[in-house]
Amino acid sequence: MLTQIKGLHHVTSMAADAQLNNDFFTKTLGLRRVKKTVNFDAPDVYHLYYGDEIGSPGSVMTYFPFPHIVKGSRGAGEVAETVFAVPSGSRGYWRQRLSTHGVANLREEESFGEKRLRFSGPDGDGFALAEVRDDARRAFNGGQVPPDDGVHGFHGVTMRLRDGGATGELLQYMGYEQVDRQGDLIRYAVKGGNGADFVDLEVLPGAASAQQGAGSVHHVAFAVENRAAQLEVRKALLDTGYHVTPVIDRDYFWAIYFRAPGGVLFEVATNEPGFDRDEDTAHLGEVLKLPRQHANLRSQLEQILPPIVD
Ligand code: ZN
Repeated sequence: MLTQIKGLHHVTSMAADAQLNNDFFTKTLGLRRVKKTVNFDAPDVYHLYYGDEIGSPGSVMTYFPFPHIVKGSRGAGEVAETVFAVPSGSRGYWRQRLSTHGVANLREEESFGEKRLRFSGPDGDGFALAEVRDDARRAFNGGQVPPDDGVHGFHGVTMRLRDGGATGELLQYMGYEQVDRQGDLIRYAVKGGNGADFVDLEVLPGAASAQQGAGSVHHVAFAVENRAAQLEVRKALLDTGYHVTPVIDRDYFWAIYFRAPGGVLFEVATNEPGFDRDEDTAHLGEVLKLPRQHANLRSQLEQILPPIVD
């Protein structure tokens, strides 16, 4: 069993409109945009990162806004819901705030004894806020939500699968323990994590396959401290028979990717070097940052990429 994985690192999804996406995360949810860059593999598309003040691993929701992309549909083989942690007692504030902002499909539920507000993002993305007691992490102090009510980071993700067996085994191999069950849900948790410690599997044998598009999670990334830990994880996964990519430099972390048995794309990302690598903490996310390999495209990209008004 691996011991290097310390919870989630980031969740990456697709959107149809950069401005709506930016407004939803910075204005409605009160996160900080910690990086404005491009998709390294398709630089005519933004890659937007939202998180806490410094974009701590376990707080970072990232998006590729592809103009004209069709809407995805939720189904089996994907992360169906991304769950953020908010302080105990804050759901009244959030219910009011989200309804004032016209957020769709707002409903209150309880899951694993946690009070939750579930809702849809601008492209039908599945989200929830879960009230979490004693979360040592701190919300961004400087955004549009008072820090006493603010989002602390991820609580976890819910993957919808037709069969949870092989993915459950993989999670256990990655250091997660099965800690609870409720209806169709099986809860896994990692000890000593960064706070974004939960992965719930929703097992629905008859579910139709998810269709990827706007509002779909593209992949979920797990956190390791550094490159040495990442190489250990990579070797262990290769030895177990997973097809794992070589280490890829993403400027703000190093990444490896592999496909989990239920169809979800997994990444393992390093906590180093972080989002302050090329910007002052006070000014994270303000200007367009380009990776070295695309720096020569700046004037072209500034024409193509739609402006984002903050
Ligand atoms: Zn990623």
